[in-house]
Amino acid sequence: MSIVSNNLKRIKPSPTIAVTTKAREMRAAGKDVIGLGAGEPDFDTPDNVKDAAIEAIKKGDTKYTAVDGTPELKKAIVEKFKRENNLSYSTDQVTVGTGGKQVIYNTFMATLNKGDEVIIPAPFWVSYPDMVLLAGGTPKIVKCDERDGFKLSARKLKKAITKKTKWLILNSPSNPTGAGYTKDEIEELSEILIKNKKIFILSDDIYEHIRYDNFNFFTTAQISKLKDRTLTMNGVSKSYAMTGWRIGYAAGPKEIITAIRKIQSQSTSNPSSISQAAAVEALNGQQNFIKERAEAFRERRDFVVNSLNKIKGINCLTPNGAFYVFPSCKGLLNKKTKLKTDKEFVQKLLEKSMVAVVQGSAFGLNGYFRISYATSMANLEKAISRIKDFCENLNN
Ligand code: PLP
Repeated sequence: MSIVSNNLKRIKPSPTIAVTTKAREMRAAGKDVIGLGAGEPDFDTPDNVKDAAIEAIKKGDTKYTAVDGTPELKKAIVEKFKRENNLSYSTDQVTVGTGGKQVIYNTFMATLNKGDEVIIPAPFWVSYPDMVLLAGGTPKIVKCDERDGFKLSARKLKKAITKKTKWLILNSPSNPTGAGYTKDEIEELSEILIKNKKIFILSDDIYEHIRYDNFNFFTTAQISKLKDRTLTMNGVSKSYAMTGWRIGYAAGPKEIITAIRKIQSQSTSNPSSISQAAAVEALNGQQNFIKERAEAFRERRDFVVNSLNKIKGINCLTPNGAFYVFPSCKGLLNKKTKLKTDKEFVQKLLEKSMVAVVQGSAFGLNGYFRISYATSMANLEKAISRIKDFCENLNN
């Protein structure tokens, strides 16, 4: 009998981390691989944030803190929600964890009973279904079509709801598609959610600040009738280029926040005291660079989308935010190319042309692949040129 628990057998390791690891190994073996798999900004953490961390070390902020965040950080988070989203919370409605990932994991561990269903619109961030499974819940995947901009429609939401539905996850702007929900679209979904009073909404807003073309960010908690049933998750990883610092947070119903604290108190305890001090500065300090960086991402997005759409067999929507595109490769899956699946497409692209991307099926939708354009323009130009050559020579 295996030492590994039955619970763990239900899940798989993160496919995005697997691609990044494979690309790293190939590079270490001397191969000229371009990695477009990683979900992190290539920019550096701002200097004021680094300085705040150094200062925290020097002044001895190196001990345990309150389990779910220091009072200073919770205050900065409360102010962030007020300033940017016009949402009022008290500090006991806020929790801080070791990255957004831990906050989401704790949320499901704290709230799911066996058989509880979580509606997950696909394409989805790879970790949602596996976290739900680990917590004993049942992921209810709802496929969202390219023609709907990869977004959940009210009709599909209504159809997916059962007596067992406990959560709906909404992620806007989305990983992996970059699609953002407009205020109107969230209001349409809300009409159904308001009627179904037992459903809670997990709003994953981690890409809030990376958005383009004046896309107006709107989040479910801003619907007053849903605020008491919405847990809004956010963090400093993407907006402030702080992926390695591991700070994520959420605000919402006190009962959930208290339950999350209980889990954290028996697992990791507080997130790093130094990272928390850095996050205070990130949230309270100057914010100008966010717009500048989003502009750099927009230039890359435009280059990638325009170039991909010139390749025969590839079709790519223009995202509203995040730093991903999710093009279709369905036009290249046929007898002539001898490729049957998106997985075969990305594997061959890596082997033949040394470009690492992630297959759409890892995000719950076949026939697509995800490119992260959080890398230099020079890298992107080289990668796109390789992808073009690869696609155009597939028939040979
Ligand atoms: N949510 C989404 C949609 C993400 O893409 C990520 C990271 O890739 C996270 C949450 C977690 O972010 P972190 O744990 O790095 O704060």
